[in-house]
Amino acid sequence: MRVPRTLKWLDSLSHHRAVCDGTFVPAAAGSVIPHTYTCSLETEKVNYNIMSVERHLDGKVELVTGSTSGIGLAIAHVLAKTGASIILTGFGDEQLTSKLKEDFSSKYKCRVDYIATDLSKVADINELFTSVIKLYPEGVDVLINNAGYNHVCLVEEYPEEKWDDMVAVMLSAPFHLCKRFIPLMKKKGCGRIVITSSVHGMISTAGKAVYSAVKHGVVGLGIALEVVEYGITCNTICPGFVETAVTQTQIAQLAKDNGISYEQAK
Ligand code: NAD
Repeated sequence: MRVPRTLKWLDSLSHHRAVCDGTFVPAAAGSVIPHTYTCSLETEKVNYNIMSVERHLDGKVELVTGSTSGIGLAIAHVLAKTGASIILTGFGDEQLTSKLKEDFSSKYKCRVDYIATDLSKVADINELFTSVIKLYPEGVDVLINNAGYNHVCLVEEYPEEKWDDMVAVMLSAPFHLCKRFIPLMKKKGCGRIVITSSVHGMISTAGKAVYSAVKHGVVGLGIALEVVEYGITCNTICPGFVETAVTQTQIAQLAKDNGISYEQAK
């Protein structure tokens, strides 16, 4: 099957535990040395070879959920460098989202749109889909299901509405988006789907039963999608610890509970 060279870096991430924002090192002009994308994998530094991707995805359309911060934003930056058109979604006020759009437009020669969506609501997901189709009637070439958060709490104390919300945002939303975009990818005969699970999609730790249940769920969804014969791949990535808004809250809480510094808790 034809796998666009430019997406191998994303495919390769499925074999590793972490993806995070880091330093993008472009190859020197005319150099055969590929670009590298540096990610910290807990204490290690890993250089992901992302090949010569710059401007290679011209004309492709990429939707990244949860791209107003953290891992999703980092992914969107790397994809924007490739010349793809980017659709950002995620929570953010007018000030943040305008700044993000300005930032992308000034740094890259790509089209960037922001569509506000609360992925816990199916009606919002439908609106997101309709807005994308208005912009790009043939749908997207790359769908990155990344939005998420965590609520750490023992199962017996877990707020039930939180369970519903975690399932809606991190398990149902990827399902709804795949369901809507896959038929259009099939028509084109190609597509790339990525789902951000977590190391907690393979193991679990105290207080994270619900997060683990949801993240194990998307691992199953990614494995089960019946798309490969249509030129569509799906990779579920399982990052380890990445310091973003999600983990900063947890570290701060851990520090407070144990009377230690943020750095010690980290
Ligand atoms: P982050 O808080 O920086 O980003 C989360 C993004 O998801 C934001 O853009 C936020 O607006 C969006 N989001 C959250 N709820 C939403 C909703 N209801 N509707 C629409 N958008 C919503 O956190 P992050 O660490 O970058 O997390 C991104 C993904 O990576 C999550 O799925 C998370 O579970 C996963 N992950 C994170 C880590 C880590 O250590 N940070 C490790 C493994 C997996």
